[in-house]
Amino acid sequence: MGGCHSYPSATEADSKSHPSDISKGKLGINNNNLEERPYLQEQYVCQRITQTHMSTLTALPPGVDKTEWLASNTVAFFKHVNLFSSALSEFCTPSTCPTACGPGNMIYMWTDDHGRKLKCSAPLYFDYAMSYIQDLLTDEDVFPTKTGSVFPTGFFFLAQKVFLLLFRTLAHIYWSHYRETVALGLQGHLNTLFTHLTFFCRQHALLEPEDIEPMLDLINALGQQD
Ligand SMILES: [Zn+2]
Repeated sequence: MGGCHSYPSATEADSKSHPSDISKGKLGINNNNLEERPYLQEQYVCQRITQTHMSTLTALPPGVDKTEWLASNTVAFFKHVNLFSSALSEFCTPSTCPTACGPGNMIYMWTDDHGRKLKCSAPLYFDYAMSYIQDLLTDEDVFPTKTGSVFPTGFFFLAQKVFLLLFRTLAHIYWSHYRETVALGLQGHLNTLFTHLTFFCRQHALLEPEDIEPMLDLINALGQQD
């Protein structure tokens, strides 16, 4: 299990207050150790499953509460990213992906409940991530569903953490599992989901520039298609 023996905390996991969890100096290992980034090729960048303008889809609709809009989209994006990563899960194993890495082979490390950084396999990292998000979404104190309930003070901060994990999940798929994505014919779906998510994050200031920088080449390429 990638050398990880501690179960992570549901409250401290992958805190954005620990930006050093990306060890840029160390290279990860995956099954796509190519210098090229095939997802940037014109034949793939232009593929979408809809031509709807993402800026229209992601903008706050008139009369809708901003936090409610953020919450409902958080739930929807989690379901889509989780479903998408499940479709590729058979290709993401401790042997194919012994480290959770993204573009440039940067390594994503999990933070356990003692604040320790865990270098774990990609499937374990993303399993932690999805479990962490699932726990948040079902926590009535964080995502209230009852009439009259209010969102907690730190809701936006938690939403930022969720979107960072979702962004990294898709970044790992682009970086480590693009060949399988193409083989399954899912590249148009992946581009659409990634574009939708990054437009939403940009419109609502959910990701820091340093978080999106490793995927900026793709974001710019896809943006020109919108
Ligand atoms: Zn993987």
